[in-house]
Amino acid sequence: MIPRMPPQEARLGFVYSAPFRIQGVSVAGEQAVVHVPELDLVFDIGLCPRPVLASPIVALSHTHMDHVAGLPYWFSQRAFQKMPGTARCLVHPKMVEPVRRMMAAWVDLERQQTPHEIIPIEPDSEYQLRPNMFIRAIEVSHTTPALAFVVIERRSKLRDEFHGVSQERLRELRGQGVEITKTIEIPLVAYTGDTEIGEFLFREEFRQAQVVITECTFFEDEHRDRAKVGKHIHVEDLRPLLEAWTARDIIIGHVSRRTLIPFARERIEAIAGPDRAKSVHLLMDHRSNRTRHENQVAAFENSAGILKGQKGELSSGTPGGSALDMPTSTSEMTVDGIDGHL
Ligand SMILES: [Zn+2]
Ligand SMILES: [Zn+2]
Repeated sequence: MIPRMPPQEARLGFVYSAPFRIQGVSVAGEQAVVHVPELDLVFDIGLCPRPVLASPIVALSHTHMDHVAGLPYWFSQRAFQKMPGTARCLVHPKMVEPVRRMMAAWVDLERQQTPHEIIPIEPDSEYQLRPNMFIRAIEVSHTTPALAFVVIERRSKLRDEFHGVSQERLRELRGQGVEITKTIEIPLVAYTGDTEIGEFLFREEFRQAQVVITECTFFEDEHRDRAKVGKHIHVEDLRPLLEAWTARDIIIGHVSRRTLIPFARERIEAIAGPDRAKSVHLLMDHRSNRTRHENQVAAFENSAGILKGQKGELSSGTPGGSALDMPTSTSEMTVDGIDGHL
């Protein structure tokens, strides 16, 4: 008898929550690696699938093997493939030394200097990703020191009292040193890492994040104790969390391999209700995620087709260009115009 061919390598899970692609593999105890290309960022690196080489920063939630094993390989491959940007790993301050020792051992083993930067990130401190974007670490509770992360965008907004004031007058006021804007924080993507439920997951950053990527390791009623001992989230814990989080999409990873996807979906629907459950996705539910993606593509093509049609009609009847290129309201235009210069 001829043996079968080996199974294909684990596919990356994929959820698109515009404008963010959330892609990776996340199975409890085996590997967790979640890549968000639009942020140029990787959360955890249990193994190193090829696409994550493109991003230069890993935010490491904690140092369990299923989250850290791909780190030396990632550093090494990024150097080998001459990827741009210095490779950096953000780590809980208590685990910086062991991670550095691990990397030092690899330098000894390979007899070559793999460039790497291990950067401590204190709970409640931030690391700048872009001029207006940073990642904040939040201490969570697991069986090792552990961090959650939230990527936050800072935007300047016109203060309420200046709405409706002409651009000219605003420029004048600025010239006089008047603070016409305030800075607001917009939490974009939050990542829990491995953790038990705790008040830290109800912080404003988590409540307001546009996308939350959360672990949920256990789904069976009889596994509540195991979740407690291993300091993980049980599906029952999602009940208050889904109420608190306003995210347009919630992505669940770190499901144990024993848990069948249809059963997990059923439990999520029971807990979240059918409406909210529509915005809760299992990262490794390839079938549902593919259907959702196909629908997204179809909807986009549809609207693009409609817009194209409208544009053709409008531009033929409107000299001087299409009305669709104009902002939808003048107040928006004023605020955006001002913000754009700050
Ligand atoms: Zn884990
Ligand atoms: Zn863990």
